[in-house]
Amino acid sequence: MKNSKLVQYYIIGSGSINELELLLSFKRENSNSYVVFLIDHFFKSISLTNKLPILENDTVIFVDTTNEPHSEYIDGIIETLKIKAIRPSVIIGIGGGSTLDIAKAISILLTNPGSAEDYQGWDLVKNAPIYKIGIPTIAGTGAEFTRTAVMTSKTKKLGINSDHSVYDQVILDPDLLTTVPNEQFIYTAMDCYVHNVESLRGSQNDEMTIAFAEKSLNMMEEIFLGEMNLEKLQVASAMGGIAIANSNVGICHPLSYGLSLVLNLHHGFSICIAFNQLAEYYPEVSKFKEILEKYNVRLPKIITPEISLEQINRIADATLKNERPLENAFGKNWRSIFTKEKVIELIKKM
Ligand code: NAD
Ligand code: ZN
Repeated sequence: MKNSKLVQYYIIGSGSINELELLLSFKRENSNSYVVFLIDHFFKSISLTNKLPILENDTVIFVDTTNEPHSEYIDGIIETLKIKAIRPSVIIGIGGGSTLDIAKAISILLTNPGSAEDYQGWDLVKNAPIYKIGIPTIAGTGAEFTRTAVMTSKTKKLGINSDHSVYDQVILDPDLLTTVPNEQFIYTAMDCYVHNVESLRGSQNDEMTIAFAEKSLNMMEEIFLGEMNLEKLQVASAMGGIAIANSNVGICHPLSYGLSLVLNLHHGFSICIAFNQLAEYYPEVSKFKEILEKYNVRLPKIITPEISLEQINRIADATLKNERPLENAFGKNWRSIFTKEKVIELIKKM
């Protein structure tokens, strides 16, 4: 049974990050209470911290997002935090999908024993996590609204899929997005575009996910081919997240997982590289190309002569491991349609 949980509270609008002080005042119960701020390392240099209600007792950790989340990195943060005898009252994640997912995992691991990788999978978390607040600074992944905390471990890239991964409170402040460099902005935004397309064109959706995905896709096209509106973009990202979390991805995400795993590419970028070659499955690829052109984003060729046949084979094998998304896209018979030869043919074009 699909029993969908959503974020309980959200605040939206320019300057809404200023509400954090009031929200935290309800959680700072006594003089021992403290808050852990996990902030994307980009904000170290532009000093967001002087706008945040950080008190003397609080802990601030700048999250290194050079690489996407790894279970060992998360375990390292947990070790640091466990030095304090008392658990924090609140965990706050401020950043893109990587930081938001790390903050989700931290809130879970402070109340559940073991390593982050022990919880990769579905519904493995037993104990209620620490109360958490998510504040996105890039829009597109939808991580602020989903029930998964994506990470890589020694053996796999898989999320902590659990109701306990859902944020208790989200703050959508469009002002935080203004510093994202153009290419990163597009790569992450197009993750949302693709979530919507894959959700709508798959078979594992329902009227609720269709409603969210359709509206989010329309908003994305309106914003990217018409006039940019960061607040609308944040709403589209959240709605795309809700849609994809309750349906399934399709052809593009499995290919992007293969690319990310073998060539160590970031999620949004590998999504764009893969989606660019999927016009025969998704008519929306033509609008996607229009958007890239409008925003002056030129995708490089990543399958260069330096990439060996053995690597291409590994990308194809990793792609084909994603059985449920591929069944969502092609139906039960997907293996006879989306063959390894076909996958390799697509990869070689990327
Ligand atoms: P990110 O968090 O990986 O950050 C990308 C880059 O943008 C980093 O260099 C970061 O420092 C920089 N950055 C962040 N905010 C900025 C700002 N305001 N100004 C300037 N630079 C800024 O990017 P992302 O694309 O949002 O997240 C990707 C991650 O999200 C991947 O790990 C992916 O697997 C995950 N993801 C999770 C979900 C989910 O539901 N949990 C869904 C999709 C993707
Ligand atoms: Zn995605």
